[in-house]
Amino acid sequence: MKFGFSVKGGEFMGDCIFCKIVAGEIPSKKIYEDDKVLAFYDISPEAPVHFLVVPKEHIVSANDITEENCSIVSHIFLVINKIVRDLNISENGYRIVNNCGTDGGQTVNHIHFHVLGARELKWPPG
Ligand code: 5GP
Ligand code: ZN
Repeated sequence: MKFGFSVKGGEFMGDCIFCKIVAGEIPSKKIYEDDKVLAFYDISPEAPVHFLVVPKEHIVSANDITEENCSIVSHIFLVINKIVRDLNISENGYRIVNNCGTDGGQTVNHIHFHVLGARELKWPPG
């Protein structure tokens, strides 16, 4: 997407914080980037390691995963697999979280996977 705004999943990409981070319009502390995804540290970390992995394409939530775009999810898990090894949290373990919609606690309407680690995490979540 080079020019202007387009609508996907009912939202203007131009209003989306994570599209702006992907575009470099909002700075972020990047960990990994390729043609399909960006990984960056969460601005408000809930664990000593807390990063987010987002597709560069604007997909609103898990509700918007389709036959056509679902390969991005496996790609994101492969990227997480690489990053957790690079950050030395793979052996102790970590948590991958996707919040979907209002009850799921999603606050940014561009699908993202949280990865939290480097401390023991409680279960169940609140
Ligand atoms: P959600 O609640 O939607 O699952 O998670 C959104 C996450 O995005 C939150 O953990 C929040 O701290 C993070 N976040 C929101 N705005 C920004 C930002 O501008 N930069 C970064 N790096 N993280 C952000
Ligand atoms: Zn977006």
